[in-house]
Amino acid sequence: MTSDKTKKERLDQSRLKRAKATADIDTRDENITPPPGAVMADHAQLSHNNTYDRLPRFYIDKVVVCRQCGKEEVWPAERQKWWYEIAKGNINTQAVLCRSCRGKEKARKDAARRVLPAGLKKNK
Ligand SMILES: [Zn+2]
Repeated sequence: MTSDKTKKERLDQSRLKRAKATADIDTRDENITPPPGAVMADHAQLSHNNTYDRLPRFYIDKVVVCRQCGKEEVWPAERQKWWYEIAKGNINTQAVLCRSCRGKEKARKDAARRVLPAGLKKNK
């Protein structure tokens, strides 16, 4: 029996392969056709970027090498749109942690926030 996890891992792998194949595409180039799976950018939502560089026309899956564990992972086009256009991330920033390290990092910060007030109480 194939578990859902294995199926998902296989899907992730093929998406990673595809992301590597399109890594050379210049998403700012006006003369290229966005590849399948590309998500169009909304420049009105990118106006917070104070940059003279051209803004991307679209987002495509990107390969991110995790700064913490070195794992290669896809940064999906939809997540990039969210980061740049909804979360208003700077266009020159990008994901540096894989999903699992990002989750651990978040859990660590949440735990630190919870532990601190409890620790203060204990000292009284
Ligand atoms: Zn990682």
